[in-house]
Amino acid sequence: MKRIFRILSMVTAGLLLAAWGTWQLSRNASYQLYGGLTDRVDTAQPRVALTFDDGPTPGHTQAILDQLDALGVRATFFLVGDAMARHPELAAQIVRAGHQVGNHSRTHSRMVFMPAAQVREELDTTDRLIREAGYTDEILFRPPYGKKLLVLPWVLHQRGTRTITWDVEPESGSGAEPPADDIVERVLEQSRPGSIILMHVMFDSRATSLQAVPGIVAGLRERGFEFVTVSELLDD
Ligand SMILES: [Zn+2]
Repeated sequence: MKRIFRILSMVTAGLLLAAWGTWQLSRNASYQLYGGLTDRVDTAQPRVALTFDDGPTPGHTQAILDQLDALGVRATFFLVGDAMARHPELAAQIVRAGHQVGNHSRTHSRMVFMPAAQVREELDTTDRLIREAGYTDEILFRPPYGKKLLVLPWVLHQRGTRTITWDVEPESGSGAEPPADDIVERVLEQSRPGSIILMHVMFDSRATSLQAVPGIVAGLRERGFEFVTVSELLDD
């Protein structure tokens, strides 16, 4: 009897460890099982890519476009299909302003345990909306919450879609909004040649992120960095 308990507890411990490992793997920003992903580009060129996730959302999209225009920066927007369907004019405006647009799924759901057919529908619908917005270059993908694992990377690999994550995440840590100065400081500390910077600016709750953009651009330019799109960074 004792022996059965010992075996059972070992099996339970093993299963818990496997579950924990799987979860860690699913949220790892620099690893995926198939096809690989890019969290930064290995380059000696002092270039970085600013990336903005989610949206488009009314009001906030105009605000970030105005800022980028004033700063002379081209960025990469990973947009959500359902939001683009609600605001096609905003998606088109981002494209017309010369920014890169990528696929950030249709529903912004966790895709870790999503069946393959549903994953394909999320990707295809969002790609179609990006094309309808007038974007003609390669469409890169960024998984919602950075989560992937098995089915999603396999589908991405099959359709030849490249996965882009990030290596600089200045808003992370708490759910609360960090002050704009802290966001700027983190980006300046963590950025290196080839970095991909993740930010969210198209929400009411992300006002300080939007405020941080001019400081990030000025600070990195002062350090000799140039801002390019993710595709331009990949070409290095
Ligand atoms: Zn997102």
